[in-house]
Amino acid sequence: MSASHTPDTAPRPALPYRGRFAPSPTGPLHAGSLLSAVCSFLEARRHDGRWQVRIDDIDPPREVAGAADAILRSLDAHGLHADDSIVFQSRRQAAYLGALDRLRDAGVLFPCACSRRELRARATAGPNGPLYPGTCRDGLPPGREARAWRLRVNQAEDLFEDRFQGLVRTRLAETVGDFVVRRADGLLAYNLAAAVDDGSSDISHVIRGHDLLWCTPPQRLIQRALGLRSPEYGHLPVLVDLQGQKLSKQQGAPALDDRSAPANLWLALQRLQQEPPPALRRASLATLWQWAHAHWTPDRLLGQETIRIDHDEAIGD
Ligand code: GLU
Repeated sequence: MSASHTPDTAPRPALPYRGRFAPSPTGPLHAGSLLSAVCSFLEARRHDGRWQVRIDDIDPPREVAGAADAILRSLDAHGLHADDSIVFQSRRQAAYLGALDRLRDAGVLFPCACSRRELRARATAGPNGPLYPGTCRDGLPPGREARAWRLRVNQAEDLFEDRFQGLVRTRLAETVGDFVVRRADGLLAYNLAAAVDDGSSDISHVIRGHDLLWCTPPQRLIQRALGLRSPEYGHLPVLVDLQGQKLSKQQGAPALDDRSAPANLWLALQRLQQEPPPALRRASLATLWQWAHAHWTPDRLLGQETIRIDHDEAIGD
């Protein structure tokens, strides 16, 4: 059995707007993540909705000590105040384990014994990385033990309308393959935790970077298999340097200087193509936010995958 890809076509009453920003504490807030925070916040406000902050701290090996606190301090310093208490994924293990059990009971998961090396040797190339070769799909090979758990995908097409990227259609079997929901090290996969949280906490809209676009079909599939409602999605262009390299914590993107919060916000609005007046470059945070709420025009970002900045500009953050 594989999880159903059939779109849920029954009309559903719209949820009240509830957006969220969900950083991983793998480093401080930087200019790239600020764009997702600002855009999801402005969208929530434009719809008179609420805005949640969730710390995605379910991957301790990748976590940087103090990063969660630093991110929360930076958000506050930039006037990005959450409407509800902060959600920590590390405190929601029981919900994810319950979801894993339900998926297992529904017969859509299978245990996988493949090592990284075996996968490298046998996987075919997909557009977003190697595709699972199907080795353990129909049962573990004799004498082998389960390392990870994967969700079995089928050939059906997934289709959704992205706020910024337009219609996205994909066949998970060709783009992602049977994907991991519980990792070989025992940790739960980001896709599982994000799908459960977004689907079960009345998040109506997920606005995040374009680099996460290909996580959306797996997350939607998990939500469908669990009978959870999928939010609407919007994938923003991501900041890249002149070489096309995404600005990220892993690439050592510099932390935002919280003392320059108004200047950081001005620059974020400019990068989001809102054309803030140069005269506001030295304005107070309150004035800038007021301007941003009044002039927020997200359609300027339609169809864009990247925003190029030069190195000096990135360092200057
Ligand atoms: N925690 C993920 C990250 O920082 C993003 C999660 C999301 O927005 O879905 O890359």
